[in-house]
This record gives sequence, structure tokens and C-alpha cells, in this order.
Amino acid sequence: MSSDAGNNRTSESTPLLGAPQPEIANAANGDVEEGRLRRSYKSLQSSWTATCIQRVLLVALIVALVLVLTLYTTHNDNAELAGICMTPACIHAASGYLTNLSPNYKEIDPCTDFEEYVCGGWRGEHDMRADQGMTDALGLMNDRVTSTIRNILEGEYPDSSDHSAFSPSQLSALVASTDRQNFDELQAAYNACMDVDAITKEGIKPIVALIDELAATFGKSGSSSAAVDYSDSVLYLKKHGISAFFSSYVSDDDKDPETQIIGVGPISSFGLPSKLYFEDKDVVAQYLDAMTKVLSAINPSVASIGPADKAAKALVDFEARLSLAAPDKEDMDDVTKTYNLMSVKDTAKLLPHFGLEKSLKHLVPADYTLNVTVTAFPEVLANVSQIVADTPREVVHNFLYWRLIVYYSSAVLGPEIRPWRQFLNVLQGKDANADPERWRTCVSHVGGTLGWILSRFFVEASFSAAAKDFGNQIISDIKTAYLANFDNLAWMDDETRRVAAEKVHNIDQKVGYPSESPNIMDPEDLRKYYAPVSVGSSYFDNILSSDDFDNKEMWSKLGKPTDMKEWGMIASTVNAYYNPPHNEIVFPAAIMQFPLFSVDLPSYVSYGAFGAVAGHELSHAFDNNGRHYDLHGRYNNWWTNATIEAFTEKAECIVEEFNNFTVIGKDGPIHVKGRQTLGENIADSGGLTAARMAWDLRRASLKKNNKNKKSNGVEGLSLPGLADFTHEQLFYISYGNAWCSKFRPAMLTNRVTTDEHSPDPIRIKGTVLNSRGFREAFQCPVKEPTCELW
Ligand SMILES: [Zn+2]
Repeated sequence: MSSDAGNNRTSESTPLLGAPQPEIANAANGDVEEGRLRRSYKSLQSSWTATCIQRVLLVALIVALVLVLTLYTTHNDNAELAGICMTPACIHAASGYLTNLSPNYKEIDPCTDFEEYVCGGWRGEHDMRADQGMTDALGLMNDRVTSTIRNILEGEYPDSSDHSAFSPSQLSALVASTDRQNFDELQAAYNACMDVDAITKEGIKPIVALIDELAATFGKSGSSSAAVDYSDSVLYLKKHGISAFFSSYVSDDDKDPETQIIGVGPISSFGLPSKLYFEDKDVVAQYLDAMTKVLSAINPSVASIGPADKAAKALVDFEARLSLAAPDKEDMDDVTKTYNLMSVKDTAKLLPHFGLEKSLKHLVPADYTLNVTVTAFPEVLANVSQIVADTPREVVHNFLYWRLIVYYSSAVLGPEIRPWRQFLNVLQGKDANADPERWRTCVSHVGGTLGWILSRFFVEASFSAAAKDFGNQIISDIKTAYLANFDNLAWMDDETRRVAAEKVHNIDQKVGYPSESPNIMDPEDLRKYYAPVSVGSSYFDNILSSDDFDNKEMWSKLGKPTDMKEWGMIASTVNAYYNPPHNEIVFPAAIMQFPLFSVDLPSYVSYGAFGAVAGHELSHAFDNNGRHYDLHGRYNNWWTNATIEAFTEKAECIVEEFNNFTVIGKDGPIHVKGRQTLGENIADSGGLTAARMAWDLRRASLKKNNKNKKSNGVEGLSLPGLADFTHEQLFYISYGNAWCSKFRPAMLTNRVTTDEHSPDPIRIKGTVLNSRGFREAFQCPVKEPTCELW
């Protein structure tokens, strides 16, 4: 259940959606798991009164729509003759778009505020739960997925289901029995999590027991006369998947992706979600208060924490010093800054108080010879080591206890831990005392624990071969569009262009769900895969077992060739990613649903939204980080200097453009961080351009082959009530609908500070301004994109 395990186990560095929220160090937290499915939500009930007028207009609009639909339905044949699609799917989609348009969209200039134009009505229709700091279109998709999974987990084994080759009724008796066993295990994990009485009765005892175990590891470091040595404690935490002062992990060697290598690097922030938060006096005071309350309520028998207020003050100061030493967020994803091949001995010398070499020997497979590490920011590691050595031991001990408490805080229920939950909620704009409904937490827990078994039953219930085929077609069309576009890019020299084209050809596309590592349609394979995980009636023990499995699995990869078949997100994840060393784009089944995707709607819908998602992921292969990886996924300088210079200049335009956008955060307007979000903004803009080209090419080919209406019977038709919009405009309306959102100000502050993505409204506003196709479709006075890279 560690944060880099379960849904997002591999090193995908560029998911479509944002990182989990503040619980960066809190991987056992339910919200983090939600974050892995998507992102964590926050709460509030405001906007209702503010949108009263909008709602009146909206109701009028819907009444009008119903009238129009009735009229059209009566004259269905006439409608089709007039080029209007009247299928249930089209009516449903049209209703959605009409509801989401601003009630006064006709008075809004789409060229200056397309977000309000396309999403103004959405905000009037959607509110946040008390446990949400935001909600958006993809969040609603995730809600549907979560409900589907809840129904699966609370239902019977689907033995009569027979719509696919892998459906239960199609399985042989032997395989069906394994399938049923897997299902029972899924339910057992869910039920243990749902057993609030048992978890409450247990209280924080499991955490206190771990704190005492940790205290017993201090040994020498407990005595002030001994040399500073935290080796045993750091290893103890690492075995639970918790990084104390630095991270160590196994990943692809960026320069040789077929090989797995040990990575060592700094932690980007301690305690608070970003080091910038340590400059916010209010937040620090609230954090201190929450920590004091939690520390004073924890009563370990071996460990000694001292007076809680004094301990907390020293601890927050210590975390602030460590965070200040950490690299900036935008540098953490920059392979040119993170890739330093060093001997294990030299890396260990940077971290003299933590017994790195000894600790790695415990973690790696017995037959693996320690040799080198990829060491990110060596100078930061040395600094962190020095800060720890200069800090009183009792403060360091309390810091280590705190890491453990925070990590497991959501694995327990108890008043002692409550202040920490309240603090996290406030930090994300949620109601302080709001908890997600338990079943939501438990659906994500099961995803983090037995994610591939869950995927099997989710896909069986919700995905189709037709959807997979259409997804593959869109992605292939995006590749074709990208290749065609290279010819238009005068700033790229021929040699770079040639290799770039090969890189596009080489991109592996994974759609829906994995058929290997493990094959989720093979119950026996799933059984084997999860054999080491033990699921019983104790929620906490299940988490420990799952963490242990994830950790061991990660370290066991050393010495074996990289498994290129593995996926980094489970099938029920509403997200997508590009993984640079694998040169692959991956789209879990759950992201292929309306409003992003539908096999039953005219193609502008899916190309405008899902096509832009596919284009986004493909563009990551050529963003400021992805461009450093060559056609084999190797970190390698394959660009000429002149082309690098031209790229940098164009990228700077995007940095500036997004720096100028503001959103309203908890303390007023805040600027989006153009550099921190550069890769994602490049991907959004490049993705939309590629999607449009792909759609144009597809339309042209359909027309040429006169297949327009043969494809799905609705191709080339308009949507009811939206016939005033051209199909090109509907393409961009579909794009905009994917990112309609509503935020609490504190969550926007949180996002801008921590996320590598721009906030949703800016993902619409900034991206369309970089699209020539959009400007032409809406007849904007200026047709030239603000910035243009791909
Ligand atoms: Zn992305």
C-alpha cells in the first residue's frame, strides 16, 4: 500500500492527472489511495446560493431541450435528414453539453474565456461533498467507477455473467473455482476495511506497537556519547516502505531501461505537502497544533516522546530545515539533474549516519551484487545528512516516530489521530471533520491491495472489446497525426525529425488492461501473483501484508531484466500515463468512458476529449523531460544544438504564458507556476493539436471511403439542440467538457503549490489559446496560437 505501489507501482513520471494530496508521506492514507485512483477530493457546500440565477436559466434551458427533443423525436426521420443524431447516446451527450454550457454562453466570447463558456453551467449543477476540496468531470467519472466497484464488492460472485470470453460462465469448472476464490479474497479485504467497529476497538494500538518496535532499534543512537548512527531505524522504516531522510528504490536505469537499478534521492518535502508551506505562518501554526495534540495522545511504552508541545516545536523546526534543503519540485522531475551514476560506496559516503550499504544488503536479493546507484542531487543528500547529525537525538527520534504515525494514520481509527486528519482536511479546503464515506475508502483500499483482481472484475463488468478497438484506433491516429505534423515544424532539423519519427513508431500503446504481468483475465495467474499477500479479518494486518508484498516485489526486480509488460495503473484508474524509459503510453479501461469517450457518438466527441488525452500522453515523449529519452527509451542526447535552442525558446513561451494565469487561492490570487507545470502544459497543447489533426485525417479517410455513416451509424451527424455549433466547435466543446471543475480556494493553493499540472480551468483556457484549430473554429480575431511547440 505504499504510495508508489499498487495502482502506480512503476515509474510513470507523467500521469495525465495530478499527484496525491498532502499526505505525501502518508501512504497508508485512504486519500492517497484515492489519489492513486485519481486525486483526493475536498469538501464544501458553498456555490449553491451564488448560482441561483444560473440554475433558473439552466432549468429553462433543459425545458427547452426537452421540447426540442420531443419535436425531433416525433420527426426522427426528418431529424436524421437534417443531420441530427437522435440515438439515446446522442441525446444523453447533448443534454450533458447543454447543461454544462454557461447559461449565458451566447454573451461570452469563447476566444477570451472558453472555460466559462463551456463549463459555466457545470458549476451550477455540481457541488462538492463535505470530504471534497474539488470536483471535476474526471472526478465524476471516478465516482461512477467507484460505485461500480462498490456494487461488485458488495454483490455476489457474478457467476451468470457471460458477455465476454473471460466472463465467469465461460470459464472451465477448475478455473471458475479459482476465480471465485480470488473474488472471495477481494471481498474479504473489503469487508475487513468496512468493519469500523473492529477497527475502532483496536484504536491506535497497532501504531503504538510499531513505535515501540522502532524505539527498540535506536540502540547506539540513543546514547549521546556514541557516534551518530541511525542505520537500524532507517532500515526498520524502509522495510515498511517508509523513507525517513532520503528515498531508495528500484527503477529502470534511464540510460539502459532493460536493466533495473537502485535509485537514491532526496525527499522533496517533510511533513507539509510542499516546502513552500513552511513559509505560511498560519499553516505552520495549525500543523504544530495538530502534531502537539497527536503526540500528547500517543502513549508508547518503550519510546519516550517528552512534553508534546516542546517535541512538536523542535520537530517542525527540524522538518523546515530539511525541507529547505530539498530540491525545488520542478527539478525533481528533470532527468538531467537527477541522473548521476555513482558507486554504492560513494553514495553511502554522502549519507554517513544511515548505513546505506548495510541497509541495501538487507533489501536486495541474496544473489545481487551491490555496485552502483543512480543518485539524485548528491549535494542535497550530504546536506540532509549534516542537518540530521547537527540535530539533538531526541528530536530525530521523534521525527522518525512521526513519519510512522503519519504513514499509518489512515490505517487506524481513533480520537488520538483525529487532529491530524482535521489538519489535512483544512489544508485541502475540506470540512475539518469530514470523512469520506467508508465504502469509498475501502474501494480504494482494495485497489491498492489486490488491484489486479479488482481490475479483472471491473473490466468484466464495464469494458468492451469495441471500446478497446476504438481506443486503439484513436491512439494510432494520433501517432499518424504526430508524424504528419513533424513535416510542418521548420524549427526541427532533418536528423532530429527522422529519429523523432522513429520514436513515435516505437511507442508502445497499452489500452484497457494487462494481459501479462499479470494476465488479469487468467484467474490462476492472479492467484499466483498475489500468493504472498495474506488477507484476513484485520484491516491493519492486511495493510502490513500488502506493503510487505509491494516492497519485496520492488526489490526483487534487481538482477532481472525489466518487465516491459507490467502496467503502472490498475484498470479501474481514471488516468493515463507516458513512461519515458519504456517509451509507452498507457490508458486504463476506466478512462475510456463518457464524457471522454464513447463508441456510440460522432467521432468529434471521442477525438476531442480522449484523443486529446492520447495526444497529451504522446506529447510527453517530446516534452522538456521526455525529449531526453531516445527512440529506445534511453536517456541520451539525440538532439542537435540548434534544435535544442529552438525548442527551449518555444518552451519558454509556454512558461511565460502559464506564469501569467492566476487562480483564487486561500489567500487571494496566486500565479500558476509556469516552470513547474511546463511538461504538462506542453503535453496539453501538443495533445489537443495532435487530436485535431488525427480527427481531420480520420474524417478525410472516412469520406474518401464513403464510410461516414457505416462506422457506427452516427458519424457525420450533429447533436440535438447543438446544431448551431459546427462539428469543429463541438470537437473543442468536447475537449472543454473533460476539464469542467469546481475548487475550494485552499485546494487551489494546494494544487498550485504541489501539482505539476495546471489547475483544470487553466488546462482549458491556456490550451485552447495555443490551438490554431480552436481559434479558427470559433472565428477568433487572432488565428495565431499564443505559443506553439508540437
Ligand atoms: Zn501528463
